[in-house]
Amino acid sequence: MRASSKTAWRGRLRAELAVWSTGAAALATGTRPPFILCYHGIGAPAGPDPDDLFIARARFAGQLDRLGALGYRMVTVSELWRRVRAGSALGFGAITFDDGLAQVTSEALPELTERGMQCTFYIATAWLGGRHPHLPEERVLTHDELRGLAGDGVEIGAHSVDHLRLPELTPGAAREQLERSRRELEEIVDRPVQSMAYPFGQYDERTVAAARSAGYETACGCSGPGPWAALSLPREPIFGATSDRRFRLKVAGVYGPVHRLRAVHPARPRPVRTDRRPRSELPPAP
Ligand SMILES: [Zn+2]
Repeated sequence: MRASSKTAWRGRLRAELAVWSTGAAALATGTRPPFILCYHGIGAPAGPDPDDLFIARARFAGQLDRLGALGYRMVTVSELWRRVRAGSALGFGAITFDDGLAQVTSEALPELTERGMQCTFYIATAWLGGRHPHLPEERVLTHDELRGLAGDGVEIGAHSVDHLRLPELTPGAAREQLERSRRELEEIVDRPVQSMAYPFGQYDERTVAAARSAGYETACGCSGPGPWAALSLPREPIFGATSDRRFRLKVAGVYGPVHRLRAVHPARPRPVRTDRRPRSELPPAP
């Protein structure tokens, strides 16, 4: 390894260990730090689900019960961020659904409502009223359904217009995706859209600048724990194969860093394992 890359890796190691130790201390002391979870579909998929994006409804309900037993209260991302800034976020978390799959309203919302839990939907506006391009058997919410959700207290956030990989676009094109999706959503739901999630969880400095320019207060990635910054909020993806133990580690913020360190270390050969993590745990999903 070259000296410069070694130095960079050591810096990354220190940052990751700082995140991990904070989470580990919270886990040990029961501090209940804030967290954001990323879901896509709940219940049985209508067709193939190659990225393991669907979670059985009973398992999802069990995860909500687990959060309730830990004493967490679930709020919208915007409310959680207000609490983080005010220093009053301990014991609060946020549940998010990306891509606006219509079946989430019948499979997930009743479970959340029953427990008095709020949530945030992130919507790619060009997909509204059509089929999900990567899950063609799944219907995406219509304008009317989205308006109804907003009226019921669900936070509606943006997920760009066309769900492209924003860092691969020119800065102007990325900004257009973020400005237009916000404008279109605000017209549909007739209220301010303050939060967004980067498609595929992918962003870089230019993407963050585009989100700031477009006027968002918060923006989420989707690759595990990290420092809390308004336009790069940490978010944990939950998959169908996410075990109860992994779920608990993800909520505590101690699952991702170790995984990422293993993924980025360029020199050390990885041992052959028979209990290899399923492909679905590799960040980020769509
Ligand atoms: Zn997405």
